[in-house]
Amino acid sequence: MLKPNTNYQNLKDSYLFDTILQKSKDYLKNNPNAHLLRLGVGDVTLPLPEVVIEALHNAVDDQSKKETFHGYMYECGDYALREKIALHYAERGIKIAPDEVFISTGACDELADIIDLFDISNSALVMEPAYPSYVETNVIAGRRIIRMNSSEENLFMPTPEKNTKADIIYICSPNNPTGVVFDFENLKKWVDFANQNGSIIIFDAAYEVFIDSPHLPRSIFEIEGAKTCAIEICSLSKTAGFTGTRLGYTVVPKNIIREKMSINEMWTRNRLSKTNGVSYILQKGAMAVFTRKGQEQIKANLQVYKENAKVLTNALDKTNTWYTGGKNSPYLWLRCPDNMNSWEFFDYLLNKAQIVGTPGAGFGKCGEKYFRLSSFGDPHDTVEAAKRLIKIL
Ligand code: PLP
Repeated sequence: MLKPNTNYQNLKDSYLFDTILQKSKDYLKNNPNAHLLRLGVGDVTLPLPEVVIEALHNAVDDQSKKETFHGYMYECGDYALREKIALHYAERGIKIAPDEVFISTGACDELADIIDLFDISNSALVMEPAYPSYVETNVIAGRRIIRMNSSEENLFMPTPEKNTKADIIYICSPNNPTGVVFDFENLKKWVDFANQNGSIIIFDAAYEVFIDSPHLPRSIFEIEGAKTCAIEICSLSKTAGFTGTRLGYTVVPKNIIREKMSINEMWTRNRLSKTNGVSYILQKGAMAVFTRKGQEQIKANLQVYKENAKVLTNALDKTNTWYTGGKNSPYLWLRCPDNMNSWEFFDYLLNKAQIVGTPGAGFGKCGEKYFRLSSFGDPHDTVEAAKRLIKIL
């Protein structure tokens, strides 16, 4: 008799976004003329840049002719795209070899797959509140999870403590949901900790492009020592609007060696076994992102989200609300007023101001009294939401 993976029984129901949707639907049923201002979305709302669309169309045409048709692509990614991404790092003074870059179908898929590299006896440290995938992929694998709570005391930027022990360490910066960006000093503490303890950091840089400040690291490889202990997972989802198109990349340095095994060689071997690569068409679309025109066009879209973030931070500043994020990040993380818990505040915002946000409780216990607002919404709705926030907070 087949024995299923019983670890699935240890997963909590993923009710967060379903409940938000249901509550929004119920509200609209009772108030059919209402217009909801949706600031809960973590998804982009603007279309792909023109250069990307053009490249995708051309790639489709290539597939229609024998002379330009492409079959299977190399499992680790087309060398030309890997080279372009390595150059993109080089422009910021970070030396990465093309064969340290792996093309993926997105950060979420990589977060799930990358833990194949580690023995099940390793522990995984997750700083909460956290993007749920870090916990859930390890629950499914049956790995021991160490939850490190963050709070207002450490400005939601925890650093290693005297008794911290961890083999795999997840860091997300800019953070989803708190919007916090690790500074050089605190990121260096984790890099030093990992090198001293033989741990490996999984650095989720899905939102790096939102960092405008030159005083904050956009890549963990800006930190000395990171190339012997860190894997960086990136995505074009939020950078270039690829959430529904799917393409990401992962940097696995060749200098990470554990028990004489090269993590880069292991990941190459993993890809050869577990994927047949990303489609030719999508890789062509991604190539266009890394051209001069592509970079200009993604900036124009990002500016819209950044403006939204500014509008929201202004509103929270005006109301003296405690929050993190909103600067160098698309998310704002605010303390719920009047000691409300995050679902109470959700209902309050929905009923009083027709604003839909995301309750902090969905990202771990320590998010119970906090709330996430996103800057990926419609600009007009965001301006209106800010006005209403000022009135009711
Ligand atoms: N990492 C974080 C922190 C995210 O918030 C998300 C998506 O919202 C992802 C990864 C997944 O990105 P992708 O669309 O590339 O799978």
